[in-house]
Amino acid sequence: MFCTTIPQIWRNRLGAGTSKKSGTEESREKGKAYLLDKYTGELLDKISKAELRETVPVPAGVDINEWLATNTLSFYNHINQIYSTITDYCTAVTCNNLSSGNTSFTWVDEKGKKIRMSAHQYLELVIISVEKLVTDEGTFPTKYDQEFPIHFQTTIKRIFRLMFHVLGHIYTSHFNNILELGELLVLNTVFVHFMYFQMEHNLIDAKELQSLEDLVQAFNL
Ligand SMILES: [Zn+2]
Repeated sequence: MFCTTIPQIWRNRLGAGTSKKSGTEESREKGKAYLLDKYTGELLDKISKAELRETVPVPAGVDINEWLATNTLSFYNHINQIYSTITDYCTAVTCNNLSSGNTSFTWVDEKGKKIRMSAHQYLELVIISVEKLVTDEGTFPTKYDQEFPIHFQTTIKRIFRLMFHVLGHIYTSHFNNILELGELLVLNTVFVHFMYFQMEHNLIDAKELQSLEDLVQAFNL
């Protein structure tokens, strides 16, 4: 059963605010604009990183699996919501390059088979796969007194790794779309909270994290 103590410290406010840039500024920012201080300096509703960090440990008296389940569902819903706003820009045309690190991924299926695919295909598969996991009662029990499965924490780690790839692709390939849609603060807040949560509960391997090391450093996490 899920506990209901997850802090509502940040909310779904997609579309709040806009960001406009001059032509010169824009050309100066080609490349990794998402690393600039002016983009990493603010979170939604002026929440501080310290406040977000305080929300990630398991509260006293709460079962760790319930805490992981509740938060994982919340992260999935928020990340999926952000992703759904950029799907018009993340297409078989824009993100179909198999030779770039930011736009190609290797999908590993349940049997360990590796399949190389474009970011566009990969992200679609990630969303379908995670949706399937979090809506499966055998994996994510929501009924009172129902036991969590033995491999529950392995599933949580898989979901976090996949969600991390989605966030990474959004920052590295769709940052301008995020700015145009006015979703910067929402994305930043979800990312910082997600990273603090995975750090606290050791959910993503260090090797995976290397792909976004510069972004993590830019946020000073
Ligand atoms: Zn894309």
